[in-house]
Amino acid sequence: MVEKPRGQLPEGVKGSVIPKIGYHGWTTWELAFDGCRVPHAKMVGEEGKAFYLTTAGLETARAHTAARSIGLAQGSLEDSIQYAKDRNQFGNPIGNFQAIRFKLADMATQIEASRALLYTVCEKIDEGVRADTEASMVKLFASEMCERVASEGLQIHGGAGYTTHFAAERYWRDARLTKIFEGTSEIQMRIISDAMLGKVGA
Ligand SMILES: Cc1cc2nc3c(=O)[nH]c(=O)nc-3n(C[C@H](O)[C@H](O)[C@H](O)COP(=O)(O)OP(=O)(O)OC[C@H]3O[C@@H](n4cnc5c(N)ncnc54)[C@H](O)[C@@H]3O)c2cc1C
Repeated sequence: MVEKPRGQLPEGVKGSVIPKIGYHGWTTWELAFDGCRVPHAKMVGEEGKAFYLTTAGLETARAHTAARSIGLAQGSLEDSIQYAKDRNQFGNPIGNFQAIRFKLADMATQIEASRALLYTVCEKIDEGVRADTEASMVKLFASEMCERVASEGLQIHGGAGYTTHFAAERYWRDARLTKIFEGTSEIQMRIISDAMLGKVGA
């Protein structure tokens, strides 16, 4: 573990900010460690075991990413409901059109399904029951849902959704990341299928 003094990088560490298309709430850095000395007392676990200790935490981190995806989708839904009430076309609030109402119904249903799965997985994690497969399932399900919902939210906003005047575009850009970090959707599918079928070639 390398401690970072506030506002500067530790000795032997170089870094540069990675420009991103979303998730601007935090800055992402690429770090290079060259000649960075770490005291023995700062070793994580036993020598050669830090990787396993770190990966053991992925279960919680994946449930956490699913929770973020659900929150993001919920934000998109709430904004879309409001917009459907506010925006008038052809003499009606667009929320009177079945095409828009059904989109909202579908968005809400997908969010609820993800939330129910998340609570089941979190209960297992809280009870100390191993839930790595289930954590992959909820991360996969919620992040894929999140992008679909955010995209529909943008669609409900019409042309305004493609502007930066509404949060719809930000939800969509931020949703895209949830399918990538904390293990991509493809990697979650590998974990889930390995649990059912065993590892390929094993
Ligand atoms: C904004 C941001 C923040 C991040 N924050 C962190 C962080 O805090 N900590 C951290 O450790 N990492 C972080 N990451 C890294 C992130 O976890 C990785 O980008 C992600 O796990 C994917 O790895 P990769 O980029 O190397 O993609 P690659 O492994 O190069 O994958 C490229 C493509 O190949 C597919 N693929 C790769 N291997 C397989 C396989 N075996 N089977 C099937 N398909 C495969 C992938 O699904 C993907 O579609 C961050 C990334 C981003 C973009």
